[in-house]
Amino acid sequence: MTSTIKSRSRKTAWRIFNFQSAASVAVIAAAVFPVLLLADRRLALASILAASAVVLGLSLLAATRYMRLLEGCHDKIATLTTHDDLTGLPNRRWFFDRLDEEVDRAGRYGNDLSMIMIDLDHFKRGNSEFGHPLGDQALAEVARLIAANVRASDVVARYGGEEFVVLLPETTAERASLAAEKLRIVVEVNDISLEGPQVKVTVSCGVAGIGAAPKEGKLRDNLILAADKALSRAKENGRNQVIEFTG
Ligand code: GH3
Ligand code: MG
Ligand code: MG
Repeated sequence: MTSTIKSRSRKTAWRIFNFQSAASVAVIAAAVFPVLLLADRRLALASILAASAVVLGLSLLAATRYMRLLEGCHDKIATLTTHDDLTGLPNRRWFFDRLDEEVDRAGRYGNDLSMIMIDLDHFKRGNSEFGHPLGDQALAEVARLIAANVRASDVVARYGGEEFVVLLPETTAERASLAAEKLRIVVEVNDISLEGPQVKVTVSCGVAGIGAAPKEGKLRDNLILAADKALSRAKENGRNQVIEFTG
């Protein structure tokens, strides 16, 4: 991906350079021609000044386009380092930064904060039944469903292979459990097969709020551990369900 960005930027940079050079040479040639022919020195000087102004304008235009090109590359690279390619969701690294911010904020203002850990059920089996490419499509579709069914203020990320995480600022664990149940149902009822055989997917969810997370140690880690424990219980209880961490 970065090599594609590199080669595209190189091509665009060359195009800008070629255009700017060709246009400058043409303008200078057009200015020199009357200078050679005209006996009037004032007209010759005016022609050279006009040509210089046009060349400066062209250079400014080229510099602006270079700048835009660099900004575009910067944005693409930033997206690549913070987002997951397959699902388009933010990645784990980005998520941990947001989690730190939200845990800080919740601590400072005494706000609620909850987390939903979501894991696809028996996905290894699904992969071997349908094949990895269809598994990838299913994963991307589940990601889309999750992102489309949470609040704009909630934070969704791909936590790991077939695991997603949702952070719900200013939300109690009880309300987060309702949100998780909605997500569970949305995934269960949606036919996510895009082509080929029907792919049925279910998810298990572990929910934890900072209120119930253990107090010793780092709150951030405790919240993740609590959601993880609840998720393990949801798996043990038979999957396709939501469990809230209560201690
Ligand atoms: P469980 O219900 O206990 O979670 O079972 P599981 O099979 O989902 O869990 P397990 O941890 O055993 O396997 C996870 C599977 O997820 C294995 C791996 O092949 C698959 N997986 C992880 N990332 C990707 C991915 O990007 N694409 C595809 N197609 N599969 C993935
Ligand atoms: Mg799984
Ligand atoms: Mg897993």
